Amino acid sequence: MASLKNCPSCGKLYLETGRKVCPACVEAEEEMENVVRNFVRDHKKATIHEIVQGTGVKERIVIRMIKAGRFIETGIKIEYPCEKCGHMITRGKLCEKCSNDLVQQVAKAAANANRRLERSDRSHTLNMMKNR
Ligand SMILES: [Zn+2]
Ligand SMILES: [Zn+2]
Repeated sequence: MASLKNCPSCGKLYLETGRKVCPACVEAEEEMENVVRNFVRDHKKATIHEIVQGTGVKERIVIRMIKAGRFIETGIKIEYPCEKCGHMITRGKLCEKCSNDLVQQVAKAAANANRRLERSDRSHTLNMMKNR
């Protein structure tokens, strides 16, 4: 379903048809992506800083492209810091260690939630017996 939205990138009203930004911004982003991809092809060891300097594309956008895995198919690996510990990584948001930590934390939280649920189940059953 198409609906009228403000483009989060340029603020203009546009008809949303599945894209997150307006057609002009989609085009601009594709253009920037080409520029960055060409630059990276010529500078295989480029850091994010060098890409920003060399292409004029904003760092935020370059990082977003890398995180979206736009350059993986070109075989180019660009390193950027893990969001948690700053360890250099080439894909995703977190390094292996931090993402493992995260998985464990989630598992632990889930286990705690289950335990809490079991406990409340038990007291619920006790209450039912008392009321009998
Ligand atoms: Zn826009
Ligand atoms: Zn990390």
